[in-house]
Amino acid sequence: MLSFNLLVTICLIYVAILFAVAGWAEGRARAGRAKFLQSPIVYTLSISVYCTAWTYYGAVGSAARNGLEFVTIYLGPTLLFVGWFWVLRRLVNIGRTQRITSIADFISSRYGNNAPLAVIVTLLCVIGSTPYIALQLQSLTLSFSVFATESVELSQTFIAFWLAVGLALFTILFGTRNIDANERHHGVVTAIAVEAVVKLGALLSVGVFVVWGIADGPADIFARIPPDMMAEGPIVTPRWATLTFLAAVAIICLPRMFQVVVVENTAEDHLATASWAFPLYLFLMSLFVLPIAIGGKSFLPAGSNPDLFVVTLPLAFDQFGLATLAFLGGFSSATSMVIVAAIALSTMMSNHIILPIWIRANRDRNPQSDDVRSLLLVARRISILAILALGYMYYAVTDGTAALASIGLIAFLGVAQLLPALLGGLFWNNATRAGALAGILVGFAIWAYTLFLPSFEGQFILSEAALTTGPWGLQWLAPRSLFGSTIEDPLVHATAFSLGANGVTFLIVSLLTVPSALERLQAVRMIASQDATPRFRASSGSTVEDLFILAQRILGRADATTLFDRMAKTQGKESGLPDLTDSVIRNLERGLAGTVGAATAHAMLAQVSGPEDLSVEDLFAMADETAQIMEYSHELEIKSEQLAANAQKLRDVNERLTELSSQKDVFLSQVSHELRTPMTSIRSFAEIMRDSPDMSESEKHRFSSIIHDESVRLTRLLDEILDLSFLESGKSKLNIRTESITGIITRSETSVAALAARKSATIISDIRPRALLADVDGDRLSQVLINLLTNAIKYGVADTPIIRITARSRGPEVLIRVSDNGPGISDADARLIFEKFARVSDTGEKGSAGLGLSISREIMRTLGGDIELAPSLKGATFDVTFPKSHTAQQAAE
Ligand code: ADP
Repeated sequence: MLSFNLLVTICLIYVAILFAVAGWAEGRARAGRAKFLQSPIVYTLSISVYCTAWTYYGAVGSAARNGLEFVTIYLGPTLLFVGWFWVLRRLVNIGRTQRITSIADFISSRYGNNAPLAVIVTLLCVIGSTPYIALQLQSLTLSFSVFATESVELSQTFIAFWLAVGLALFTILFGTRNIDANERHHGVVTAIAVEAVVKLGALLSVGVFVVWGIADGPADIFARIPPDMMAEGPIVTPRWATLTFLAAVAIICLPRMFQVVVVENTAEDHLATASWAFPLYLFLMSLFVLPIAIGGKSFLPAGSNPDLFVVTLPLAFDQFGLATLAFLGGFSSATSMVIVAAIALSTMMSNHIILPIWIRANRDRNPQSDDVRSLLLVARRISILAILALGYMYYAVTDGTAALASIGLIAFLGVAQLLPALLGGLFWNNATRAGALAGILVGFAIWAYTLFLPSFEGQFILSEAALTTGPWGLQWLAPRSLFGSTIEDPLVHATAFSLGANGVTFLIVSLLTVPSALERLQAVRMIASQDATPRFRASSGSTVEDLFILAQRILGRADATTLFDRMAKTQGKESGLPDLTDSVIRNLERGLAGTVGAATAHAMLAQVSGPEDLSVEDLFAMADETAQIMEYSHELEIKSEQLAANAQKLRDVNERLTELSSQKDVFLSQVSHELRTPMTSIRSFAEIMRDSPDMSESEKHRFSSIIHDESVRLTRLLDEILDLSFLESGKSKLNIRTESITGIITRSETSVAALAARKSATIISDIRPRALLADVDGDRLSQVLINLLTNAIKYGVADTPIIRITARSRGPEVLIRVSDNGPGISDADARLIFEKFARVSDTGEKGSAGLGLSISREIMRTLGGDIELAPSLKGATFDVTFPKSHTAQQAAE
């Protein structure tokens, strides 16, 4: 007898061999030498993950119980591969070109990269797959316990628990060894292919043993068909049709099938081979199902579990070697299913649930790619544990009672709810996200209500009473006969209602809603890319020369040459261009990314070198980069505008400086001119006096008076020039005090009184209010007023010269107006009089240098006010304004 311990050891050795195979394949793939992985046979064998422990054990069980019904499980996929090959091809091509990572990824991408949709599909897949994983646990447990009961006494849940733990570890070690960017798992696929061979070999061996070892050939076996096995009545019943349909749908909707058929597909022609090779595999798998079932029924004691005939038949005839092989076949079926399902589901869970949550939680931190990598690994491992824990819990709750086949069908129908959204997404441009979401939710709810929850037989959520008489006694809501339906078979009932409602909802909601721009874009991208001729050249079409030209355009000749030389060197070439390999393209992409951005570089190389379509993400990333570049150039534009403005300012300042410098020259020449006149006369009169010793006293007096007057004039002139330069340099210190305007005006009048008397000019002053006060430098203001009054007396020549000086408070300012009734100042002169050395009046006295008004204006401006010539009908009028309070003065400065 085969001991239980030996069996466990054999399993462990088998697992170790699988590990070695996976490791070897992965190594070869990394080294780029995995030619066998390119073989369509490996792809086809990996699709055989469809044949799980359910098929392996359950098909025989089903045949023993229901006759030919098991054929549907093989018929469905066969019909799909043969009849619906174009659907499959379209799906696989889109999946490969769009780098789809899971069925959730496919559906959410198709409907505008919608996150809620991805989450819902993921959850649905997890829930739908849970019974299926429980099924594997159950069949493994059963087959183990066949051996266990013979040697050691172990409870079934104990075995199931440790199997779940073992499978979890196995999957974690197997499926999360690395995180491939494209989610392809070469090692796993190879190991699965090996397992496919093992399970087929095992089943065929048992079959051959039964037909020729126990019985006397096919004729003998079929002669032994028990009468109850071949059901009477029509073969093609609604249940038959439903089963065939569900089995076909499973190939594209089950997460693990999507994983091997779509995600792991590397070339289109693989699918072409699989289209005949996989049905052949299924045919071989099914070949001996009926004989084994008949053999079990006729050679084993009545009451033997037909689900275990594959193992119990060889055991009953003491064929321990064959029994072990049969057991390993079942073990292979279960483990390959669990591994692939857990990988597919954990990819979805980590990509669509855990990672988005983590990214949202860490939005502020700028996550490093290392963080994300290790997070992904941890997330996948946790997901795998969770998935197997769920499977174990389902097994424990249902107590492993339900027949294998029915559990599998529950799972099939669960994930079949994705079918309308999937097909609509493949073929119908107007299918919308809302439609997909609504259809899936409705279908899923009905599935859960009519099939999934009733599978717990009243132990979970739905009570037994609710199952038979409907919840709250509402008969029309009874899960197994909705709306009083008379469909007897629960599976057919659930399929009709859930998929029917799902499809109708999907259709109606899609028609009623308008797809968003992104949805439409994705729809066009996915659907149109398959309809139209490919927009991108195939890799064979482009040469390394093309890439070199592209690189030159972007990097420049020198850099491109360096890059290509280096790549040629690493390939061991002394000269010339490198061979076109993946690593060359990767290197080039990296090189270009530094210049044009990663997304753009990727897009460019995709255009030149690959058949890969551009994804919307690529386009968005390109747009981001373009936006960044535009922002950058916009900044540059602003900077250059600023530079231009600054340059203009500099030019202005320069002009002003030149002008000032020329003004200074003019000023200096004017000053020297002004100085020379009195100096000349002083010098000449002094010389006359020196050279004429016999000069008369009166003459002497006249000459020395002239010299004196000229000296006084010279001194005054110098004083004025000094004063002006002092004021202009801003160094003059003001002595601001609160002063009475009346006082200042009176002082100024007194100063000019003598001159006025000499010219018989009358000065009339009018100050309102009399007590007008202001913060002002009284001496400086008086200087200005004296200058104005003096000018008025000097130049305001009239028959009866009258000079008015008025002071008014005008808002925050004081206005002092000095006017005369003389000839006034012409408009042309008005512009000149404030200039230095400007003298416009013919009546100008000899002593004036033309600096008075310049100095006055300078003073008033330093006081925060101004002086200007006011328009007047007769005579000249000057307005002097300045702020009343010192703070206002400062504010004005
Ligand atoms: P000046 O030292 O010659 O008085 P100002 O700068 O005070 O120099 O005046 C400049 C010129 O403005 C004077 O030469 C004179 O021609 C003209 N001017 C000034 N005030 C009057 C006035 N009240 N009436 C006519 N002309 C005036």
